[in-house]
Amino acid sequence: MYKLEIINISKIFKKNGVETIALSETNMKIPKGKFVSLIGPSGCGKSTLFNIIAGLLRPSSGEVLLDGENIIGKKGCVGYMLQKDLLLPWRTILDNVILGLEIKGVTKKESEERAIPLLHRYGLKGFEHHYPRELSGGMRQRAALLRTLLYDQDVILLDEPFGALDAQTRLMMQTWLLQIWSDFKKTVLFVTHDIDEAIYLSDEIYVLSPRPGRLKAKVTVNLPRPREEQTMLLDEYIRLKQEILELLKEEEPLKRVE
Ligand code: ADP
Ligand code: MG
Repeated sequence: MYKLEIINISKIFKKNGVETIALSETNMKIPKGKFVSLIGPSGCGKSTLFNIIAGLLRPSSGEVLLDGENIIGKKGCVGYMLQKDLLLPWRTILDNVILGLEIKGVTKKESEERAIPLLHRYGLKGFEHHYPRELSGGMRQRAALLRTLLYDQDVILLDEPFGALDAQTRLMMQTWLLQIWSDFKKTVLFVTHDIDEAIYLSDEIYVLSPRPGRLKAKVTVNLPRPREEQTMLLDEYIRLKQEILELLKEEEPLKRVE
């Protein structure tokens, strides 16, 4: 059985009598423990799909199965780091990281006991009692990711978590994320519009076309793990990059062939 199945999910927004097709019928089968990316231009429905999986938005059609069970409209079944998942500025890093546990009703003491070793192990030792503004962008993203992880669901949705970081920090964060993923054995769904990021991180990449969002292709990444900077020099890496570039290029509106 697949960990997560997206079956014929579509979303049409209606506003003042105008319909916008955000996502046309989409199907995905995500195996347990895989790192799967969604790549596509801005506005192709990536965040919409995540909001549907997370139960925040009802689709116009279709089902989302988690371990075979339909979770449409159910919140809290997956960990979700939103595209602009900001830390609360008035809370310390520790208090931000335990937010999800607090919402779940775990006591503050137990939450802290679970969070502190993670903060130490994953590069935030000494910053527990700092406020978000005192940290670098990369460190803030670490904290936001650890918060999502501590929420403790098997499936984690990450919506462009590194979009705002500079190239060097981004590479560091990607390696850091892969470490966490292999330590915790989560199933990860990751949105990006960066081809290199998608290849470097993923086992599978779904390529989406622009409005209305539609699945264009699924690309399997058979690169050895652990991934390292040298991975990006392999012939297979370059081939994958060319393949995805072509897929995205074909989507220029004038050249579109249905
Ligand atoms: P992406 O994350 O791929 O950039 P989104 O999922 O945010 O794309 O948006 C997909 C399309 O749906 C866009 O055209 C966007 O304007 C539209 N859209 C998103 N949310 C809403 C909403 N609440 N109401 C109306 N249209 C929306
Ligand atoms: Mg988005």
